[in-house]
Amino acid sequence: MNEYDSSRMADLLGESHGMVRTNNPEEADVLLMNTCSIREKAQEKVFSELGRWRKIKEKRPEVVIGVGGCVASQEGDTIRKRASYVDMVFGPQTLHRLPKMLDEKQHNKISIVDISFPDIEKFDFLPEPKVEGYKAYVSIMEGCSKYCSFCVVPYTRGEEVSRPFDDVIAEIVHLASQGIREVTLLGQNVNGYRGSYHDGEVCTFAELLKHIHDIDGIGRIRYTTSHPLEFNDDLIEAYTQLPKLVSHVHLPIQSGSDVVLAAMKRNHNAEDYVQRIRKLKTARPDIHISSDFIIGFPNESDEDFIATMNVIADVDYDHSYSFIYSKRPGTPASELPDSIDEATKKQRLKLLQTRIKQNTERKTRAMQGTTQRVLFEKLSDKDPQYMIGTAENTRLVLAPANAALLGHFADVVIDDIVSINTVRGQKIAWSEI
Ligand code: SAH
Repeated sequence: MNEYDSSRMADLLGESHGMVRTNNPEEADVLLMNTCSIREKAQEKVFSELGRWRKIKEKRPEVVIGVGGCVASQEGDTIRKRASYVDMVFGPQTLHRLPKMLDEKQHNKISIVDISFPDIEKFDFLPEPKVEGYKAYVSIMEGCSKYCSFCVVPYTRGEEVSRPFDDVIAEIVHLASQGIREVTLLGQNVNGYRGSYHDGEVCTFAELLKHIHDIDGIGRIRYTTSHPLEFNDDLIEAYTQLPKLVSHVHLPIQSGSDVVLAAMKRNHNAEDYVQRIRKLKTARPDIHISSDFIIGFPNESDEDFIATMNVIADVDYDHSYSFIYSKRPGTPASELPDSIDEATKKQRLKLLQTRIKQNTERKTRAMQGTTQRVLFEKLSDKDPQYMIGTAENTRLVLAPANAALLGHFADVVIDDIVSINTVRGQKIAWSEI
């Protein structure tokens, strides 16, 4: 989501001020930092990077510094109190006002802090997304109303708001006309999507998927992230009807312990989750599942951790993202007592990650001899005799270069496992959509 927001900022300032992106802060006129506050570590990086930017501004005082994203949303004014050389502070929902903020600063010397949540007006002000390559992100909803006890998102991005159905479809049709073949639908809980049709009726996520499936040129649909609560039967049913929907789902469980799930306020237990997955596997037998895990939630016991490992064995995850619990200011869980020491948490994290890595390796090896549908995207930088694409399960696939295949789907027989995330095949058959 942050990557998507960052490219929107670049598109906006490109259109309003003719700006181009540079990765070299020394030559920039405007320095923008898009921040994340999901864990403390991401947040800490903000002020250390700002310290470096301060030196640039000392040499070139006309440089404008902006801080956006969730740390900005959470800290607001405090950012300018700690770093007075920051000129613009904006949140995830006010980034569309960036051109105006920049004018205010450059013409009227006024610094601005705007971290409000003006509903979903943002999307009405964003330019058509600039297209590069064959894949694109499309934001369909933002924010979260689940209020899990550990999570800062509802306070920084606001409650769930869905973009209207017509806007989402128009954006994807535009992307497809520009050569995009794969879309990833974005949101904090995409399956909580409740956009309005033009007649005011509500469009569910499963319905939205069906309409996107009908768009010519789009050959693959991904989405992230979804929440177990709204992973309903309609969505599972979609896997039997929509072949463009990839055989990979990222469905975070966080913990396999019912005690911890209740303390996290996830509103479901481990068995509810595992049953959803079983149903999904019946609908789409070759589905790959990934998850997020939080290790060391306050007072997580050995039994709780074992319950998580049991769910991992049961679901047989393909890969996962896992983190040690990080106390977030203002969240209910930050008040909970915790008697578990850091060393235990680190050890649990390592056990879990080792286990999941074994799964990833095993599943990559199992691709040997199979035929994979691949979207080819570019020639390999390392060896231009090969081109690179992605399989449905996110593995990179190398095949002999053929420029005519870039931006197309093809069936590739995998005959070589290169690394944990990369495979290779020689035999290619076109597989148009
Ligand atoms: N909406 C999704 C998750 C979005 S946040 C869901 O509810 O499942 C992305 C991930 O960051 C979470 O899945 C969680 O694993 C991690 N995360 C969020 N808050 C955290 C915290 N306080 N400490 C550690 N990890 C956290």
